Amino acid sequence: MDDLGVEVLLLSTGPDLPWLTGYEATPLERLTVLVLGRGGEPVLVVPELEAPRVGDIEDRVPGLTVRPWAETDDPVALVGELGRGARRVAVGDHTWARFVLAFQDALPGAAFVPSSTVTAGLRAVKDPAEVDALRAAARAVDAVAVEMRDRPFAGRTEHEVHRELVERMLAHGHQEANFAIVASGENGASPHHDPGSRRIEEGDVVVCDFGGRRDLYCSDVTRVYVVGEAPAEVADTWAVLVDAQEAAVRAATVGTPGETVDAAARGVIEAAGHGEHFVHRTGHGIGVEAHEEPYLVSGNAAPIEAGNAFSVEPGIYLPGRFGLRLEDIVVATPSGPERLNSAPRDLAVVG
Ligand code: ZN
Ligand code: ZN
Ligand code: ZN
Repeated sequence: MDDLGVEVLLLSTGPDLPWLTGYEATPLERLTVLVLGRGGEPVLVVPELEAPRVGDIEDRVPGLTVRPWAETDDPVALVGELGRGARRVAVGDHTWARFVLAFQDALPGAAFVPSSTVTAGLRAVKDPAEVDALRAAARAVDAVAVEMRDRPFAGRTEHEVHRELVERMLAHGHQEANFAIVASGENGASPHHDPGSRRIEEGDVVVCDFGGRRDLYCSDVTRVYVVGEAPAEVADTWAVLVDAQEAAVRAATVGTPGETVDAAARGVIEAAGHGEHFVHRTGHGIGVEAHEEPYLVSGNAAPIEAGNAFSVEPGIYLPGRFGLRLEDIVVATPSGPERLNSAPRDLAVVG
């Protein structure tokens, strides 16, 4: 904050507050906000009726004071008092616009910047405990990916398989499921397909991309299941994708720009003639948020740092026919890239 000239940080709903304090604001019209002044003591402003949810946060977070506000109090006025005189305020990227607008009225003369200005670079470098949390989340979805190899796909709708993925993530210790894409047949060519009523049939290629949160940290994995034997074209295209992902993972060493990792995957896919069918970046950072910095994308020249955690997920999408994507989470370490996911990377043959 000193470096950036930010005098006050205001964190409400969204991932920055739990990342800093372990406490997650309830997304409600009743305001919860952490007011963190430079050099001052952090104050957590919470609705009085939610004070019991906060628990022992004052013991866990050094110097933090909880300030409950009663139903007829004005929490925005309190923020105005706590932040009086600030000229530069960082406000949570996920804070509701109604609160941001009210803060701007309560702190006239302050310039507002997104909190990610302060937090994104810090959050992108994971400490060992955070890597452990990501590893545990990855193991849980790996277990789900493996279990699905023995499950029937034919005759079920995408939505039924979606629900099973959600239930299995919860059964493996996730507190919530963030998403579970099930994209079968021609739907696989849409990378963010919403699972629907399409019934999976013999010969279908099914892309399953799912993840959730376990102890605050996110998982995200993609595996592909084929009902019956994979046709030669699908198997050949998969082999290209496996090579592309391997090339990108190997390239993801400390000091390498994010765009170079993207180029490593893209080069393999282009050489196989599928360049135009790889329609998205190679990966995104992951932590308390499913998508965060660093992004492995053309134009990101920032070098990978030790402790960065990110997905490596090239895909090949053939409109009207099928799609393929392979995704693992990787952590950059001084001794090289470490994959956190270990579920088999073949095309799983299912019934
Ligand atoms: Zn995505
Ligand atoms: Zn994914
Ligand atoms: Zn992803």
